[in-house]
This record gives sequence, C-alpha cells and structure tokens, in this order.
Amino acid sequence: MIRKPIIAGNWKMNLTLNEAQAFVDEVKRKIPANNQVDTVIASPALFLATLAKERKGSDLKLSAQNSYWKNAGAFTGENSPAAIADLGVEYVIIGHSERREYFHETNEEINQKAKAIIANGLIPIICCGESLETFETGKTAEWVGGQITTALKDLTAKQVENLVIAYEPIWAIGTGKSATAEIADNTCKVVRTTAEKLYSKEVAEKVRIQYGGSVKPENIAEYMAKENVDGALVGGASLKPASFLALLDFIKQ
Ligand code: 13P
Repeated sequence: MIRKPIIAGNWKMNLTLNEAQAFVDEVKRKIPANNQVDTVIASPALFLATLAKERKGSDLKLSAQNSYWKNAGAFTGENSPAAIADLGVEYVIIGHSERREYFHETNEEINQKAKAIIANGLIPIICCGESLETFETGKTAEWVGGQITTALKDLTAKQVENLVIAYEPIWAIGTGKSATAEIADNTCKVVRTTAEKLYSKEVAEKVRIQYGGSVKPENIAEYMAKENVDGALVGGASLKPASFLALLDFIKQ
C-alpha cells in the first residue's frame, strides 16, 4: 500500500494577511508541479478566502485550523465548515493540543467536528498526542488509542480511509525536543492498529498518519523513512517560504 505523503504547515496564530499573501505567492512559483506530496498550508481562517485565490494554478492545498460542527446559526465567533468548504479549501485541522488545552475541546466535540467537516466534503486532520507525564508513565498507547476511538465514533470505513490523523506529542510541540523517529513510528503504529481494530486492515493501511512536533528540514527525512509515518504537521519551520519548501526535499534525500 503506497500512501501519498502529506506535509502540512500549521501557521497557528502567526503572520498578517500581507505576509501570508507574499508567502503563498513565492511558494506557489517554487512548489514542484504534479507534486508527489500533498502540500498544505493551514492558515488563520481570516486569510483563507484571499489565499484560495492567491494559490490558483499551483498544487498548494489549504487548510483551516479549526471549525465548528454546525453549518450556521447563533454561534458568535465560530467558523462554519460549510463556509470553509465554499472557499475551495481542502482540509480542516481539528483537536490540536493547543485547542484542547486553551479552549477545553473534548474528544466528543472533535468527533462532532469530524462528522460536520466530512459532511461538507472537507478532509479532517485529526490531532492526537500525549502530555509528558503520560509519556513518562508509559501510558501513551492507551491515551492516544482512546483519543482516536472517540474522535472516529460513528464514522464509516470509507470516511476513515480518506482522513488524516496527526500524532503530535505535546512535549515535542514548539520545544525543539522532537520525538525520535522510533517513538513517532511506534505511536503512529498505535494509531494504525486502533483503526484496524475499529474498522479493518484495509482501512488501517489507507489512513494517512502524520507526525508533528519540532519537525524541520534537517530532521524530516528520518520521520518520512518510517513505515507508519506518512507525513508531517509542522509549526515553526513552516513560517518562512524557504524553510517550508525545504521540508519537501525529503523526497530527494
Ligand atoms: P512545531 O513544529 O512548532 O513544534 O509545532 C508543531 C505543531 O503543533 C503543528 O501543529
């Protein structure tokens, strides 16, 4: 089973509209055509409409960083998955550890969001990952398995085959202390095994699983060489065009 690699830059709450436009303008001219890799930028929702126009004619894909689970209504400040889809955006990140920690998102809410995102024809990138304490006490597999089991509740096999799961250990995010490639591979395998138990071997072999946490051009190839790692979700190293483009060089290494 050959899974198409997916490298996504998560800008988080960084850049201004002008900076974002300049980034996409540069990257779209330099990104290889007919890319062998799905190359994604997850920008703040504020910029998506502009960037969807800016990236036209290139293989650069776009993602939101969050959405609500209702398409419309009295939910001040939230972003509608239907409105995101209408912009022509392809992906939505959900369940990032920063949203879980600072905005108290639960696995049940992430499940609701996954269903709404899929219903609107978008692909969710569902994040999971453990704290340092959970890691150090050897409970990572149980924790991550539980997060994924609830996040995928009531989704069909076909829906799960097409989505993306990002394993991001909280202790490796923005710390410069990336997980070793072995740890990343082992926990991505836990995610794959969870999909197999919940669905089938076929589904588990199709679902794409990313590693995230202090990934940069210098270490990405180690992760991408691992059997269970199909891509990377990258924060800090995705903010400059040169660094973002260099992440795609793992193919040449
Ligand atoms: P860093 O690459 O900055 O560690 O961030 C990882 C991340 O949270 C991507 O979603």
